[in-house]
Amino acid sequence: MSLFDKFDRLRDARGSLALDSDPSPLGTRIDEVYSPTLGRIGQHKVILAGTNNYLGLTFDPDCIAAAHRALDEAGTGTTGSRMANGSYGSHRQLEEELAEFYGMPSAMVFSTGYMANLGLISSLIGPGDSVVLDADCHASIYDACRMAGADVIRFRHNDASDLDKRLRRLADRREEGLDNTLIIVEGIYSMLGDSAPLAEIAEVKRRRGGYLLVDEAHSMGVMGATGRGLAEATGVEADVDFIVGTFSKSLGAIGGFAVSRHPELELVRFDSRPYIFTASPSPATIASVRQALAIVAQRPALRDQLWRNAERLYAGLHEQGFELGPTPGPVVAALVDSPRQAIAFWHALIEHGVYVNMMLPPASPNGRALMRISLSAAHSDEQVDSILGAFATLSPILDPSNSA
Ligand code: PMP
Repeated sequence: MSLFDKFDRLRDARGSLALDSDPSPLGTRIDEVYSPTLGRIGQHKVILAGTNNYLGLTFDPDCIAAAHRALDEAGTGTTGSRMANGSYGSHRQLEEELAEFYGMPSAMVFSTGYMANLGLISSLIGPGDSVVLDADCHASIYDACRMAGADVIRFRHNDASDLDKRLRRLADRREEGLDNTLIIVEGIYSMLGDSAPLAEIAEVKRRRGGYLLVDEAHSMGVMGATGRGLAEATGVEADVDFIVGTFSKSLGAIGGFAVSRHPELELVRFDSRPYIFTASPSPATIASVRQALAIVAQRPALRDQLWRNAERLYAGLHEQGFELGPTPGPVVAALVDSPRQAIAFWHALIEHGVYVNMMLPPASPNGRALMRISLSAAHSDEQVDSILGAFATLSPILDPSNSA
């Protein structure tokens, strides 16, 4: 047995699905990016509808200008960790702005959203503590739980009564009650684009106890009157103990954050290995994120436009007979039975000038392949209609009689 045997199996699996083609749906090279919604893949000019660029801020002139200024004034990188090498003033300013944005006493900036989950969750809990999480939670949450070494209990996706049942059983087993239990859900789930039933989940938490963490990676900037996410949209912010988010989606950059109404979050800095042992985000990244955060608060019209686009696309695909995720949203997923059909469909979409994401099990839920379309406020009606037109023209590829 060599270290590389497992890679032979991986190579064979990829080969049998022709996943090493160029372009490839799992590892696409985007040769040029012209705008938040237009790029080039090989010789194909494509509408970008697989990028999580929900508010289209990657080319916002104010964000770019802020990043340019920071590059000129503070250089290309911080070259070190915040603990060992020091924070820049702008890291602290962004944390103050995030805390103010959420109306919470404390915020922490991490180098990615992945590390925000890893860093916060692995610090909060440890052996002897329990995590009760939605079964469809993101890999970063599962990895965090593994790193923490806590007892992990999954409840059925978006099923508040299953959460209730599992908390009740846990409380029966534990003399100390649920004081050392962390409940974790997401605002919008990244594969099917559905939202957590957060009002019901918050009610269960109020009744049973425990702490509630909501990962708003896909819902921050996208939901709620001021863009704070699903907790704001459902009016349960007072029940939420921790919010994790990312700068890599609606804010158009890279990085992650955690905010909490518990001031003890400040102490997580001194205990969190994914915060301590990695370099801090570059000054240009922090500057563009600060500007993007201000835009989220100042321009609710972007959110309205995003939702109009989401509803237009969802309604159009629904009319065409596609099996979709349960509700319209910035992520629209069309479910496909066979991986081979999904791959063929993805290639045909590229040739028709449309780039979406293709997901295969186990990355996608319920053993189904899916075409995952992410919308942006920057998509025009014409672009949404072009996506719809391509799906309509190519739908015979997905006909069950063509499945292999
Ligand atoms: N949480 C969720 C729910 C996500 O979908 C993602 C990224 N897809 C992350 C966390 C990690 O975010 P980042 O890309 O900033 O590492």
